[in-house]
Amino acid sequence: KRAAYRAARDLPSVTQDGVDVTLLMNAGLLIDMAHLPETGAAGVGLYRTEVPFMVRSDFPDTDTQAELYRKILDQADGRPVTFRTLDIGGDKVLPYFHEADEENPAMGWRAIRIAMDRPGLLRGQLRALIDASEGRALRVMFPMIANVDEFRKAKAMLDKELERAEQRGKPIPESIEVGAMLEVPALVFQIDALAGKADFISIGSNDLLQFLFASDRGNPRLDGRYDSLSAPVLSVVQEIVRRCARSGIDLSVCGEMAGSPLDALALIGLGVRRLSMSPANIGPVRDTVRSCVTTSLQGFTESLLNRTDRSLRGAMLNFARDHG
Ligand code: PEP
Ligand code: MG
Repeated sequence: KRAAYRAARDLPSVTQDGVDVTLLMNAGLLIDMAHLPETGAAGVGLYRTEVPFMVRSDFPDTDTQAELYRKILDQADGRPVTFRTLDIGGDKVLPYFHEADEENPAMGWRAIRIAMDRPGLLRGQLRALIDASEGRALRVMFPMIANVDEFRKAKAMLDKELERAEQRGKPIPESIEVGAMLEVPALVFQIDALAGKADFISIGSNDLLQFLFASDRGNPRLDGRYDSLSAPVLSVVQEIVRRCARSGIDLSVCGEMAGSPLDALALIGLGVRRLSMSPANIGPVRDTVRSCVTTSLQGFTESLLNRTDRSLRGAMLNFARDHG
C-alpha cells in the first residue's frame, strides 16, 4: 500500500467533480521535511515550532532559531510553510521552562498566553522568522487564540519587527500572511471580528474537541467516549466554514481530524478545502479526495447534522463504501 501511495504522490488532489482539495503536511523537526517530496504534500500547513525547543536544554537564541527556520524554508523549496509560534504549556512542557504547577494546564498558562506575558520570547521568534524568510513568503500563525485582542497584539508585534528589519536595511519577506488557530470554542463567535485582520484560520481540532466536550485529550480513560464524527462537531465546523466565507478568511484544518479519511470526507462535505496532516496520512486522504463527489457528499454530510447518534462514523463509512 505504501508503494501505491508513493506512486500516487504526483496525482492531483482533486475530487471526481473537479474540486481541488489542498493537502498539506504537519511537521516539527527538520527531518520531517524529507516527507514533503515523498508524500507530494503541497506545503507545510502546520510547523510546530515548539518541537525543536522541546529537544534542547535551554532556549535557543534568535540566530539559532533563524538558522533552523531558514533550513526549513530551504527544504520546502518554494512550497508554503505555516509557522505556528511557540505552543508551550499544557501537554507540551519545556524541561527548562516550567513555572507554577497548574490544576488545569490545558486551560492554563500556555501558548499565546505565555507569549503575551513574556513578549521577549515571541519577539525573538518573530525576529528569527523574518530574518529567515529574506525575500520569500512568510506565513505565521498564533496558537490558542481566545479573543481578538490577543490576535491583534500578536500581529502588532509582528508588524513592529518587520518595521525594525526594514529600518535596519535587512531583507524582509516577499509577502506575509498571518493567521489564528481556532482551538478555543469562543473564537468561533469572533471570526467576523477577525475580518480584515487575519488572512487565515486553521482549526486545531485536537484542542477544539477537547474543549468542546470538556474531555482531556491526553487521558486514555476518555478515549472513544466522544467522536469527532458527530453532529455537535460537524455543526461547529459548518458554522466556522460559513463565518470564514462571510469574512473572507481562508480556512484549513490541521488537527488529527484532517488526517483521518472518514473525518476528512465530512470536512470536505462541509466545504473545507485545505487539510494539513501527518505525512503518513497524505496518501490515504488523497485516495479519499480523488474518489469523492463533493455535491453528493455535501448533501449527505448536511443530513448528518440532525442526527443524535453519539457517533456518525458507521453512517459515514457506509456512504464512503457506496460511493467508491
Ligand atoms: C490541535 O490542537 O489540533 C493542533 C493541531 O495543535 P497541537 O496538536 O499541536 O496542540
Ligand atoms: Mg493545539
